[in-house]
Amino acid sequence: QKFVYDFTEGNKDLKDLLGGKGANLAEMTNLGLPVPPGFTITTEACKVYLESGAEPAALRDEVSAHLDALEQRMGKKLGQADDPLLVSVRSGAKFSMPGMMDTVLNIGLSDASVVGLAAQAGNERFAWDSYRRLIQMFGKTVLGVDGELFEDALEDAKRAKGTHDDLDLDAADLRGLVEQFKAVVAKETGRDFPQDPREQMDLAVRAVFDSWNGERAKLYRRQERIPGDLGTAVNICSMVFGNLGSDSGTGVAFTRDPATGHQGVYGDYLCNAQGEDVVAGIRNTVPLAELEQLDKTSYDQLMQIMETLETHYKDLCDIEFTIERGKLWMLQTRVGKRTAAAAFRIATQLVDQGLIDEAEALQRVNGAQLAQLMFPRFDEKAKAERIGWGIAASPGAAVGKAVFDSYTAVKWSRSGEKVILIRRETNPDDLNGMIAAEGILTSRGGKTSHAAVVARGMGKTCVCGAEELEVDTKRRRMTAPGGVVVEEGDVISIDGSSGKVYLGKVPVVPSPVVEYFEGRMHAGADDADELVRAVHRIMAYADRVRRLRVRANADNAEDASRARRFGAQGIGLCRTEHMFLGERRELVERLILADTDSERDKALSALLPLQRSDFVELLEAMDGLPVTVRLLDPPLHEFLPDITELSVRVALAEARKDSNENDLRLLQAVHKLHEQNPMLGLRGVRLGLVIPGLFAMQVRAIAEAAAERRNAKGDPRAEIMIPLVGTVQELEIVRDEAEAVIAEVEAATGTELSLTLGTMIELPRAALTAAQIAEAAQFFSFGTNDLTQTVWGFSRDDVEASFFTAYLEKGIFGVSPFETIDKDGVGSLVRSAVEAGRATRPDLKLGVCGEHGGDPESVHFFHEVGLDYVSCSPFRIPVARLEAGRAAA
Ligand code: PEP
Ligand code: MG
Repeated sequence: QKFVYDFTEGNKDLKDLLGGKGANLAEMTNLGLPVPPGFTITTEACKVYLESGAEPAALRDEVSAHLDALEQRMGKKLGQADDPLLVSVRSGAKFSMPGMMDTVLNIGLSDASVVGLAAQAGNERFAWDSYRRLIQMFGKTVLGVDGELFEDALEDAKRAKGTHDDLDLDAADLRGLVEQFKAVVAKETGRDFPQDPREQMDLAVRAVFDSWNGERAKLYRRQERIPGDLGTAVNICSMVFGNLGSDSGTGVAFTRDPATGHQGVYGDYLCNAQGEDVVAGIRNTVPLAELEQLDKTSYDQLMQIMETLETHYKDLCDIEFTIERGKLWMLQTRVGKRTAAAAFRIATQLVDQGLIDEAEALQRVNGAQLAQLMFPRFDEKAKAERIGWGIAASPGAAVGKAVFDSYTAVKWSRSGEKVILIRRETNPDDLNGMIAAEGILTSRGGKTSHAAVVARGMGKTCVCGAEELEVDTKRRRMTAPGGVVVEEGDVISIDGSSGKVYLGKVPVVPSPVVEYFEGRMHAGADDADELVRAVHRIMAYADRVRRLRVRANADNAEDASRARRFGAQGIGLCRTEHMFLGERRELVERLILADTDSERDKALSALLPLQRSDFVELLEAMDGLPVTVRLLDPPLHEFLPDITELSVRVALAEARKDSNENDLRLLQAVHKLHEQNPMLGLRGVRLGLVIPGLFAMQVRAIAEAAAERRNAKGDPRAEIMIPLVGTVQELEIVRDEAEAVIAEVEAATGTELSLTLGTMIELPRAALTAAQIAEAAQFFSFGTNDLTQTVWGFSRDDVEASFFTAYLEKGIFGVSPFETIDKDGVGSLVRSAVEAGRATRPDLKLGVCGEHGGDPESVHFFHEVGLDYVSCSPFRIPVARLEAGRAAA
């Protein structure tokens, strides 16, 4: 096994082995670009080290051989006293993991070689500055010395000199600083700073290996679902210096604008500086375009290289470069991060340039990006005072009055105020306040904090971990840097897509992408937004290639029409219980309270015409497309008053001696219907089996509605769906009853209705006996909400707010199984039920209508197991269409 690769030996496809940075350095080397020579120690070596606690036996010799070759090529030896070769040691995993481990630069400097470097460079200040940087970086990241000790000493030195600028420290100052830094190292670690260059290098390599299992790295991996056993590669690269004078410098650049995708010159340059100065913002950078005046040769060469990289990678790249005394060096490149809008634009631009095809364009965007583009957002042109910047935890643009506790949030929102709930961090007690608020802002916690998880679950805007904001809940105020104080009642605006927090009300504009889907903006119009055109084209590609059809979960004509505009190809779930709310609740109450057959029949007869007209509207809105209507599903107590409220009302009335007969009967009924576990109780198909006439009424309403639409020359395609079936016997009974009703309506109206009858698969037993159930069902729709609930034994209504935060933090899962399908558990039941169902009935129609139907990752899974369609809420339809296309492309 080979553990070390020269940059000339690798390529960009070896990311598993060489890490992202190493693979791309190799790729650039082989493209003939000016990369300082070096080599990469593989992730395999790291894995051996992590498993056994020691570097693989062969590593030392392999490193020596590569180092020899490097020294030969450079004509000098690592740390050589009169003319030292210096190297950088940098980590580089397969996936970029910010915050894992800093780079160590200038390895090879020592008390002896610093003098040689000074002589060679003809620059004493430069040499001592490089040496103090080495001790500082090495001390902090390799030896674990508190970095502040070095920074304090540096600050002291500047103060003594009466300056704020590092550049004002001269060689003597820096030499003094080196002595101080060495003393810090000796004091803190009990040993001297290592003078042997090879020892420096080996220790740095080992520190990079160790950093893989640092707490921050572990947490980051769990959150981003990066496997814990990949290991990191280590890149050893000969140093080039941007801090050798005004003809040197360092910079970062993008091959096109990462915000818009436009081609041009985007980047920053810092004269006479090393890489970390740019990031640290110590001095002000200049726009890259100014490099043209400073050093035209290097600038032209850089432009040339960027074009080479774009055509080679066929994508936007970001790069780091250094100019050493007029010679340009490439230090890093990778396919660059970009905004959601830029992702769509760039994908279509690259198609137009002939660099990629449409299938590839689909892979360059994703549903999460599209979802982001559909949120309303703050008007970019508006003036806004930013007071904080946290983690973009849940997208959206929210404006409201600052409140600091849940109670006030609820109280104010009841009186019609829009509020933003601000907390240091949230806990389950804040739930009501979070529900009441427009958005949530916390100063602590990351992407999986309680606030973030719950807010995402609720689809509510959230910025978390805005650490520079000091939240004082007792005094109901928040202080921002610069002393801005936000008191309770002051208006703030938070942007959950960028994490930015603004003082005052920032105007919100609707998303142009939603305007487009709604049909209010046309991609072909002259003034159409460039983004809208890109989205239009990408959606067209997706629709052309996808196999999955996309339907909507909708239960009224308005939602159905919007869904249709958004591209729905039918309704996959109409939850009829939503039609029993409001004024109709009373009719349901009468049905539940009925003591006699005739009372019950009366209640049902009153509901029938209402249901029928609901279905007529729905079938009209979806004319020509399938509409799956689910018979009543929830436990009946949901239609009755709350047991505590009602008990109090009855008790008070009794005390006043004016008891209301209806309330008393209601209370009796509530007691009778009360269940410890209503979700596992009298609901779904069970209602149809024990409440005479209920399902028959619904089926009649559907059939009569279909007949009415036929008469009106419409094309109704209703499908009747039975929920919560666990065994085929339940289904058979209900089906026989339904067929009789349909036959009656057909006879009475003289129309053939061709209604189909099917079932939801949302209990494990149904999935396990799918072969039998398919005998009685013309279609299956997987109810993955209940299926997840029953497979895991997780209450879907409670867990997200109770222990899921702990589960996410412990990495038991990276995302809630109610959000993304649990492929191994719930998913494998879906897969086997698909196979068993189709074995019984080859033309069985298969879909999913749980929340997962609109989740990007889950859509790919449903494509793979061979469903015919996914069904999701209207707003997620474009996302589902896109992801179905990406799955098929
Ligand atoms: C389901 O259980 O997945 C489903 C779609 O039904 P409901 O969410 O209404 O229980
Ligand atoms: Mg269900």
